[in-house]
Amino acid sequence: MSQSDSNRNPAANQLQAGTAAIQVSIPEVRHLIGGHWVHGSGPTLPVHNPSQGTVVTEFASADRDNVDAAARSAREAFDSQTWQGLSPAQRARMLWKLADAVEDHTEELARLETLNTGKPLTVTRSFEVPQAAEILRFNAGWATKLNGETRQVSLPGQWHTYTQRQPLGVTALIIPWNNPLVMAAAKLGPALAAGCTAVLKPAELTPLSAVRLGELAQQIGFPAGVINILTGLGETTGEALVSHPGVDKVSFTGSTVVGKHLQRVTSEHLTRLALELGGKSPAVIYDDADLSAAAQGAALSIFSNSGQVCAAGSRLYVQENVAEEVIDQIVKIAENLPVGDGFEPQVRMGPVISQSQQDRVLRYVREAAGDTAEVLVGGTELDRPGYFVRPTVLRVSDRELPVVQEEIFGPVLTVQTFSAEANISEVLKSMHDTRYGLSAYVWTKSLERAHRIARGARAGNVRVNSHIGMDPAMPFGGFRESGYGKENGREGVESYTELKSVAISIAS
Ligand code: NAP
Ligand code: MG
Repeated sequence: MSQSDSNRNPAANQLQAGTAAIQVSIPEVRHLIGGHWVHGSGPTLPVHNPSQGTVVTEFASADRDNVDAAARSAREAFDSQTWQGLSPAQRARMLWKLADAVEDHTEELARLETLNTGKPLTVTRSFEVPQAAEILRFNAGWATKLNGETRQVSLPGQWHTYTQRQPLGVTALIIPWNNPLVMAAAKLGPALAAGCTAVLKPAELTPLSAVRLGELAQQIGFPAGVINILTGLGETTGEALVSHPGVDKVSFTGSTVVGKHLQRVTSEHLTRLALELGGKSPAVIYDDADLSAAAQGAALSIFSNSGQVCAAGSRLYVQENVAEEVIDQIVKIAENLPVGDGFEPQVRMGPVISQSQQDRVLRYVREAAGDTAEVLVGGTELDRPGYFVRPTVLRVSDRELPVVQEEIFGPVLTVQTFSAEANISEVLKSMHDTRYGLSAYVWTKSLERAHRIARGARAGNVRVNSHIGMDPAMPFGGFRESGYGKENGREGVESYTELKSVAISIAS
């Protein structure tokens, strides 16, 4: 394993966005282990610009030795109290400083994220980078508020009893490629606030913003070993990390198939596990809803981030008496949505992340099209380089089609209708028609319906008359095969602690 100092050696990339030239400063992708930037010893992997289909840099994946070194450095930092031994207020201040550093580098991070994911720069600049900073700040506040409580016990004698929260230890934080910086903040924020140390593994496709975040954390003085960053393949780097006996908790966001695998792997050491997995979330539009707001919301829910959102409303159910009107509106939105390179100012939807993701999404649509599924708009790539998929809407009558049942993770909406006479349990039955249970959306003016659907929905996150509602204060997580464990809120930070009970006999 070769080591190098922590000086930055960024490659600069000059991109053409329409008539404007955009400069992106690309960090050298290495691994942050015990306070040092280290070259990997695994196979070389390319990093793509999905808007152009070009390779922007390469890096050597972390191998088993790199993983072992990172897990040991996190262990050492945890056991030596360099982080959990700080006062809660000092930990909070460090996290707050990291949030400020993210905000101070908004433009640089936004360009990096747009380069690596293809997301519109307007989104990374005005939403994602600020959101990452806010998540860090929200969690900074919890460092000073992780309290236990005293309990009333009925044991013979006299007792002073209390509960106490203590940090779980070394955490392995595994994230996907759809929101790399936001997800890094959403894992590091609560883990560090709770007093844990971390080994973060970004997706192999999107290492850039996580590496830059690691550099910023180093610059502002995070103690060595508290934040380690390893990039590389899931099957090698990720697998070595989650099966490492020195890891106390794995927090994973990604696909259901890998989540199930991790449940088996972590059972070996009973490593704590949180799984934020896939979804196939339903959106229901009743005839009494504000139909243009509902159509707009349903479209944005599936076309934002090119449909690569775990909570995307990908199955739409519209009451049949207003179906044509709503479908027409959604199709028009899809036809007029400016799709292209995220650096072009007018663009509202970028590419999907990779060639294989593009092939996969288009294959789902191609295989569905037929007697029971009609492609109303989209279903094809753009005639230009890059991994683009047009916003796609399918009217389907066969609920068993893979396009209805499986998570596609692309800009593909299926539409079904329900009758004007349908009762709540029939609507809920349609909503529960897949193995997932992440989010559910309902559009109605009826308070009674809204509450009954919210109560009945087997989903972790219900939204009424809106397609958004992600906030660091709101617990987020799935039911059923969308996983378990909550991120955000008090529950999110508490999930990085163990709860202990202490009973002191003060008189017999
Ligand atoms: P993925 O293949 O499950 O990968 C997620 C992360 O796990 C990546 O860092 C991946 O590395 C790593 N990984 C893969 N195999 C591993 C293994 N055996 N051991 C340890 N780590 C391993 O998912 P993806 O393709 O990156 O992301 C898309 C999926 O994530 C979708 O299904 C989506 O719904 C889900 N997702 C869920 C949420 C949520 O909050 N519920 C949020 C976003 C995305 P590589 O990059 O090398 O594969
Ligand atoms: Mg993968």
